[in-house]
Amino acid sequence: MRKFCVSFLCVAIFSFAACAAPTLRARTPVLIPDVPGYITIKGDFHMHTVFSDGYVWPTIRVEEAWRDGLDAIAISDHLEYLPFKSDVSPNRDRSYEIARRAGDPLDILVVKGAEITRDMPPGHLNALFITNAEALAVPRWEDAVEEARKQGAYIFYNHPGWQRQAPSGVGTLYAEHKKLIAQGTLRGIEIVNGPEYYPEAFGWANEHNLTMFGNSDVHEPIGLSYPAGSDRRPITLVYVKERSIKGIREAFDQGRTVVFSQNRLMGKEDFLRPIFEQSVKVLNPKFPLRGTERKLVQIHNISDVNYELELAEDHKQINALKGITLNARQTVLLQVSGRSKEQSGGGKVALRYRVKNLLYGPREPLVVSINIELL
Ligand code: ZN
Repeated sequence: MRKFCVSFLCVAIFSFAACAAPTLRARTPVLIPDVPGYITIKGDFHMHTVFSDGYVWPTIRVEEAWRDGLDAIAISDHLEYLPFKSDVSPNRDRSYEIARRAGDPLDILVVKGAEITRDMPPGHLNALFITNAEALAVPRWEDAVEEARKQGAYIFYNHPGWQRQAPSGVGTLYAEHKKLIAQGTLRGIEIVNGPEYYPEAFGWANEHNLTMFGNSDVHEPIGLSYPAGSDRRPITLVYVKERSIKGIREAFDQGRTVVFSQNRLMGKEDFLRPIFEQSVKVLNPKFPLRGTERKLVQIHNISDVNYELELAEDHKQINALKGITLNARQTVLLQVSGRSKEQSGGGKVALRYRVKNLLYGPREPLVVSINIELL
């Protein structure tokens, strides 16, 4: 009888797992084309588990990342705030050890990290690529930063405009930060944290050559913060020469990141322009246009970004839509027409558009050309 029960239970559990698995545990890729010379790593480098004040086990963070189409994560549990330590081991190196083992079979790169957590200034700093988190748990933040530096850490400034530490909602780059930047110890900054975007931090990143990050800082299961059908979690796109932890570090050191959040891409023009060019293709670029007749240009976008275009300057020969959105994974029609009855031929035409959601500075949208040829 007992035997029967056990085997019946096994069959039942196995059938449930086999039936449930294909639909519940699936990965959705993030479609952002690579740029020439680099591989794109999609990462989230700030998140929490029950080993600090998060509500999930580290293996869950890995599978969430895999499902969300990411390649790399860093679990950055608070060093100083361990509210569940009477229920969970207070060992500050454990969340990484558990996550890394879960990452290997799913090909998720797990970067070892920790969050140095203080009042402002300096607020919260993430230290990545550390070797020993326990050694960073010291009373003075200056000593924690110094220990991280000795371990070869890469340090960035978290959520500078977080309202609890910046009541006006606008962050401050304090003397403490400027000193760490001048020393080469503080190298990056979150311009996006969860749902928040900090334009001021974007400006500092450009001014002080800081690498830009967009991270979730998720504490709950990711699906509670970003339910299906809502915005995706923020992603830091990292432009690597090799898909490895070493490759990610090298790209951070060289400032090769772009932040993808709430349908915005923010970063250096060197990356935004090729992302746009690799994403968008005019399917019928050559056609005759006589007099004031209208023609439809088909523009296809292979990416997951809805590019929001606004005409930057009128073209002398032809009229084109003032504003158009190139929808993600769709082909859209751009109507053009000749400006005068005398319109005939004309050769190559570059229609200049501002892409409102591709920003290389807080107020600097990328200007692109939609190229056609009038026969
Ligand atoms: Zn955090």
